[in-house]
Amino acid sequence: MMNSTHRPLAWIDRELAALEGQGLRRRRTVRTGPQTASLVIGDRALVNFGSNDYLALAGDPRLAAAVAESTRRQGWGSGASPLITGYAQAHQRLEQRLAEFEATEAALLFSSGFAANAGTIAALAGPGDVVFTDRKNHASLLDGCRLSRADVRVYPHGDPQRLDELLARSADKRRRLIVTDGLFSMDGDLAPLGDLVDVARRHDAMLMVDEAHATGVFGSCGRGVAEELGVEDHVDVRVGTLSKALGSVGGFVAGSRSLVEWLVNRARPYVFSTATPAAASAAAVAALEIVQREPQRREALLARARSLRSELTAQGWDVGNSQSQIIPLMVGEPKQAVALSGALHHRGLFVPAIRPPTVPQDEACLRISLTAGHTDAMIAALLDALHDLRG
Ligand code: PMP
Repeated sequence: MMNSTHRPLAWIDRELAALEGQGLRRRRTVRTGPQTASLVIGDRALVNFGSNDYLALAGDPRLAAAVAESTRRQGWGSGASPLITGYAQAHQRLEQRLAEFEATEAALLFSSGFAANAGTIAALAGPGDVVFTDRKNHASLLDGCRLSRADVRVYPHGDPQRLDELLARSADKRRRLIVTDGLFSMDGDLAPLGDLVDVARRHDAMLMVDEAHATGVFGSCGRGVAEELGVEDHVDVRVGTLSKALGSVGGFVAGSRSLVEWLVNRARPYVFSTATPAAASAAAVAALEIVQREPQRREALLARARSLRSELTAQGWDVGNSQSQIIPLMVGEPKQAVALSGALHHRGLFVPAIRPPTVPQDEACLRISLTAGHTDAMIAALLDALHDLRG
């Protein structure tokens, strides 16, 4: 007979209540309209400063047309992992375009940036190896480190000197891998890739850079921070995502042909997961073409980000070390961040509060994410509201 008092999941309600009490409980908002600079939630339109659609391509009709055309020809589902029958011509075409765009020998498409990061690290390092990871790296990089079962050493954010010291103590390891975000997703600052390259070379370590937030935005061709800083040739493994500036879905790794072949054989999220719909690749091909033909999108975005940062600083806000289209307003206390986000929401502006575990304790912030779709009037409204709230 079933015992009606047996509630093995009862602890979950207690934990959720504890999160609520600390201002850390997360809830989803349902977007009822498309992902654009104007966000419709229920029947309310808000200005959207909470998307990673940096080049305003997610809602671009050219991507939708590419999806419709591909779906009409190929249908929707992929039906199997890429190693069985899931790998379609559209995936192959996208990988070729990505390799051309990135100027690498080859590229490999994953179903998400998360899968690309986690799968790649675990394929490159294992027991007997060591992975060095920046304290502020994205969760997918950290999870890749954990999955790899290699030793993991976390180095202070953007600190090549400390990394150098840690590497010096790991000479006995079989392989050494350094992983870093190129553009950090919450602070909006850039990794010191020039210095990291030097350290990697000095210690014969592999260097992997996740350009998720920089692909399409930084560098004269839009390849990311490594291009911007002139060190692409020394980055062994470059990861990007199609889900942010490219307005689609999926992650990718760009690098040597042998790297890609190794990942095809060894990256578990690649081997054991169904390929994305071919139509998603068709959308990404269309987005890459736009990135190449319309550099003014990224140039205008970064120019606008520079001026917004200086206006916010003049108002007295702390924007940390942001150097990009991602601009945090450092608040500190999670509850304060939630209150500020709520006050902006009330004035028709969506700016998400970022709290632990996404950021370290005491580093809660509001994350302003600028896109090429914002108008001058939208930015002026944000500055007006923040001016009043500060006063
Ligand atoms: N890397 C970084 C730095 C990210 O911020 C994210 C997503 N937030 C990812 C990887 C994962 O990419 P995707 O959303 O395509 O899974």
